Amino acid sequence: MPEFDLLIRGAQPFPEIGITDGKIAALSGGTAHEEIDATGLHVLPGVIDSHVHFNEPGRTEWEGIATGSRALAAGGGTMFFDMPLNAHPPTCDSSSFDEKLIAAEEKSVTDFALWGGLVPENLDKLERLAARGVIGFKAFMSNSGIDDFSSVDDATLKEGMKRAAKLGKLVAVHAESDRITAELTAQALAENRITVRDYLDSRPIHQELEAIHRAIQVAGETKCSLHIVHVSSGAGVALIASARKQSLDVTCETCPHYLVMTEEDVEKIGALAKCAPPLRTKSSQDVLWRYLEKGHVNTVGSDHSPSPPDMKRNFNFFKVWGGISGVQHTLPLLLSEGHTKRGLDLSLIADLLSANVARRFKIPNKGQIASGFDADLALVDLGKTTTIAKEDLLYRHKQSPYVGRTLTGRVVRTILRGKTIFNDGQITATGCGRLVKPI
Ligand SMILES: [Zn+2]
Repeated sequence: MPEFDLLIRGAQPFPEIGITDGKIAALSGGTAHEEIDATGLHVLPGVIDSHVHFNEPGRTEWEGIATGSRALAAGGGTMFFDMPLNAHPPTCDSSSFDEKLIAAEEKSVTDFALWGGLVPENLDKLERLAARGVIGFKAFMSNSGIDDFSSVDDATLKEGMKRAAKLGKLVAVHAESDRITAELTAQALAENRITVRDYLDSRPIHQELEAIHRAIQVAGETKCSLHIVHVSSGAGVALIASARKQSLDVTCETCPHYLVMTEEDVEKIGALAKCAPPLRTKSSQDVLWRYLEKGHVNTVGSDHSPSPPDMKRNFNFFKVWGGISGVQHTLPLLLSEGHTKRGLDLSLIADLLSANVARRFKIPNKGQIASGFDADLALVDLGKTTTIAKEDLLYRHKQSPYVGRTLTGRVVRTILRGKTIFNDGQITATGCGRLVKPI
């Protein structure tokens, strides 16, 4: 009787990974029913993308779980956390949670977890959402860009955090100042200033810092765990790092687009590179990398937020859908721009994309290559150089600001609980992913 179901041989830094019943049984050799020769490749824990908008149910035509999870798998991903918006209904009560769960169980090729929403209308629904097993609650401090998901005022944020803390859940915020962005936007539109540059100027870094500062204060007052999503600048990360020094339970995420594109890129690329908060200057980006290298950024999530192509076309840049399609390239971008170009250690990349995510969001037995953990793995070829082509995108709408970019470092195979779900450019998944609840 062979010792393992599967043995992966030859990958660095774990040349022998024995897998049984979907779990890593040993990091040593033995006999196995099946072997994968991974000589020349590196192995990382499967990417856990804690920030995607797959928009199902309700806006499946924007992306959907089937295509979104396949794109994730092609990028070395084995689990995603879906945001409460832009599905319709948004995940703000237990029945909308159940609706999304049914869709995901049927269509996802990777494991998944669900975020709940925190909006002024659902404070009395948080308890039930917590019981369903949401990761935590997501709130918008500025306009969400979508009618069915309201932003929170300070009083709602405070009450929501109070309740979340009681339920042992964290709150994630989109931190931009509604007051400042609304004012600057109104001013620009009144003067018919509608270019890319005008949009960038309407969301300066200081308004983001103001909102981060306010969220940290409320988290401190309510003793709520706080996660600031898509921090766009080093200055934002610094603010959060200093709160942590004062023993507040505050963490932050940044996204690949803030690390690999700048203001100049959005001026060049246009709509496909529009997001909020927007891309920043090169010098601000350099500071973000420095903070990331020092370990002050906790997680990197894609904030994959696609839309149909016609929503990306408008003469008025303020009216263009803000959201970047990127879930397929988080790991390849970090391998290329982080590891190859900047010498970032692979273990730091694994922490940012997997281990820290599992730890922060209390995901059991995932995020690490260690005995007893789920065999969720990404095999990568660090030497392989490829140029991203439109045809390679597994999104429903084949658009991304990364098309045409040449990357060094390619995902060769993705393994979910011991089963190959992506291999050599093809999705090979035959089963479906599972809901994972935080512990
Ligand atoms: Zn988002």
